[in-house]
Amino acid sequence: MSASPSYPSAKAVEVSDSEVACAVCGHRQSGAEAESSLQVCPACGAHRRISAHERVRQLVDPGTFEEWDRGLEGEDRLHFFDTRAYPERLEEARSRERLPDAILTGAARIGGFPVGLAAFDFGFLGGSLSTAVGERLARAIERSADTGVPFVCVTASGGARMQEGVFSLMQMAKSVAALHRLAEVHLPFISILADPTMGGSIASFAALGDVILAEPKAMIGFTGARVITQATYEQLPAGFQTSEFHHARGLIDHVVDRRQLREVLTELLAVLDTAPGDGHGAAA
Ligand SMILES: [Zn+2]
Repeated sequence: MSASPSYPSAKAVEVSDSEVACAVCGHRQSGAEAESSLQVCPACGAHRRISAHERVRQLVDPGTFEEWDRGLEGEDRLHFFDTRAYPERLEEARSRERLPDAILTGAARIGGFPVGLAAFDFGFLGGSLSTAVGERLARAIERSADTGVPFVCVTASGGARMQEGVFSLMQMAKSVAALHRLAEVHLPFISILADPTMGGSIASFAALGDVILAEPKAMIGFTGARVITQATYEQLPAGFQTSEFHHARGLIDHVVDRRQLREVLTELLAVLDTAPGDGHGAAA
């Protein structure tokens, strides 16, 4: 278990087809109310985990999202089998999350500003970094660099995908190299950490934002608190591995309620905008 008593296990509990209950305080909402409150509990402020599709819907100007690399799918290079074959797990996640893998990338506008956008889907095998996820992420960053727009990434990821072994770990280096190209052309990377952002994701691209935002009480860290406690025999401080804990220590610039996220992003994009003339992104 997390050492933080305040950490909400962010999935809503479905009590019927049309109603959800907050997993933290039990407050009930209709599905439509939950959607219009952006899956944030109006009673206690707990942020539920959301899919990549819902994240994009919440953040971008309506009708502006154009998906990149939809057809890019990974493969089972290691013929990995735990209790089930990896391709079976992939197929199940694909049909449930309506995604080819654990990330959605594309061009969009936020508050009128053009961006390259990536959103992770934790429901898809823990938002883990498969070869396909890393490739789509790297291509989205490079495409942002090539077209002269800032890159925004919302991470919700457990880190490496064990079924792809070392191929998964290579995605850390690949995404960081792509971000280096973005930095070379002086374009900003805004990294948004959602619950949870762990392992190889926070150990690579997610921690490299020019601005790093996080949703309230998101679990953020490399190794889980239980494993650290077992390895070090140390008592971990209260609130360990939460957004607020990292913010107090300088890893995160700002903890932002999801209901203000779009507005804060728009302000940041306006401040970081370096284009001469039209005020909408750097010249390509
Ligand atoms: Zn609640």
